[in-house]
Amino acid sequence: RRYLDVWGVAKSFKGTRVMSGMNFRVDRGELVSLLGPSGCGKTTLLRIIAGLMEADEGSVVLGGRDISRFPAHRRNVSVVFQNYALFPHLTVAENVAFGLRARGTPKAEIAGPVAEALRLVRMESFAERPISALSGGQQQRVAVARALVVRPDLLLLDEPFSALDRKLRETMQVELKSLLRDRGITAIFVTHDQEEAMGVSDRIAVMNTGKIEQFADPSTLYARPASPFVMDFVGLSTRVSGRVTAAAGGMLQIESPYGSLRAAGDLPVGAQAMVGVRPELISVGQGENSLTVTLEDAMVLGSKTVLHGRAAEGDRILCELSGIRSGLARGESVTLGWEVADTLVYGGEA
Ligand code: ADP
Ligand code: MG
Repeated sequence: RRYLDVWGVAKSFKGTRVMSGMNFRVDRGELVSLLGPSGCGKTTLLRIIAGLMEADEGSVVLGGRDISRFPAHRRNVSVVFQNYALFPHLTVAENVAFGLRARGTPKAEIAGPVAEALRLVRMESFAERPISALSGGQQQRVAVARALVVRPDLLLLDEPFSALDRKLRETMQVELKSLLRDRGITAIFVTHDQEEAMGVSDRIAVMNTGKIEQFADPSTLYARPASPFVMDFVGLSTRVSGRVTAAAGGMLQIESPYGSLRAAGDLPVGAQAMVGVRPELISVGQGENSLTVTLEDAMVLGSKTVLHGRAAEGDRILCELSGIRSGLARGESVTLGWEVADTLVYGGEA
């Protein structure tokens, strides 16, 4: 099933390493996201896969063929760029036809695939319009059609929806996902937006400064983040630091400034620990784990109410209750509780 195999890739710019020992594998038909903060190397990795940039080391194997030395136009990999990169002086149909023309496809074999690609993105009635007459969302659809018309072996999308407003972005996410699913297209989707990544992907590779910190399906990433970085980047969390005071049978006792907590983990007594828990798993009242804090704020957001507890430097205490909860005010002291099984623990965090 392994389809794309990026192995041992390294890249430097003017002597500065931005990526090394990068391994990244995608199965056939998968939709995988690269998720990470700006500057972590997402675009660099995408450009190396597309052949738009050469890696210093490592290889890229697609469908069993080593394409590392292939120029971009021989890889049959399509890219949708953040800024769409459409030709403004050409019509929609001419833009979509571009890739076929560049490959020397006979004229008679261009109109059909172009019409089909435009139908896929529901832009068939815009074929003769100039690009400049389209909205951002429509241009994005044309960019996707242009990428798909050549029937790529792999589709790469670099923050394709970042210029769109939130509502349109959500529509495009749903459309893209079903389009790729229906056609069994293997795709890599780059984003810095964790909700977008969770919404569209089969699996997500969370990147941090040129490394993949965790590569897993959305629910695993959220429920069992492999590091504090992943926990903080994917969703919100309560995080408090403490010190391990007892360890037995895979269970740790951790003293925090807000009370003693328990978590399943493997750290030595005396170690610094960082305890995390997702805010919606916390409720008001005693739990297997509890801490007592002064409320900094209680934000009634409608579908949920978010409690912010007063926390020490570097810590964060968040509790999400569903629906509207009144009667919780700033300055009040509350006890928050959750289950040991929902408690995450990491070592070495100050
Ligand atoms: P991302 O897409 O995740 O925001 P990039 O892959 O664009 O990150 O960049 C990764 C790192 O490489 C950044 O530190 C960026 O400044 C650097 N970088 C990217 N492209 C170039 C380039 N052409 N020349 C010099 N530095 C670059
Ligand atoms: Mg980028």
